[in-house]
Amino acid sequence: MENCLFCKIIKGEIPASKIYEDDDFICILDINPVSKGHFLCISKEHFETLEDASDDVLHKILLVIKQLIPKLKEELGIEGFNILQNNHKISGQEVPHLHVHIIPRYSDDDADIKLIRTSDEHAKDFDAISQKFLN
Ligand code: AMP
Repeated sequence: MENCLFCKIIKGEIPASKIYEDDDFICILDINPVSKGHFLCISKEHFETLEDASDDVLHKILLVIKQLIPKLKEELGIEGFNILQNNHKISGQEVPHLHVHIIPRYSDDDADIKLIRTSDEHAKDFDAISQKFLN
């Protein structure tokens, strides 16, 4: 896709710090990392969001990530990791090309990744919402 930052990185037109590549994915270090080793797993095929992505790519992407975890443990000493995947601008997606963030965690890191509830407003109507899906 023309004018897509990640497509340009995939084509080698923009440099990036690559840690993995296969026929379907490239993994690069995030240029603005939340923690040491924060990387992005990017599909080579251009899909804007998870909704648009092929089943095949979605099946494979977590397996690629899983296979890199032992190396992150070995080489960087990561103790855990968060996975984040933004879809659409409202969620904070800056680059409209399917990618997953893998954010290594260390006992002494300063990463602040939390689900923050600012009110109880949404803690209601559970049955009504659930019925909308089940009916
Ligand atoms: P998102 O907000 O989920 O779309 O995340 C996009 C991510 O891409 C951000 O964390 C950026 O720091 C990262 N990013 C932007 N430009 C580059 C680049 N040239 N190389 C590596 N990562 C980048």
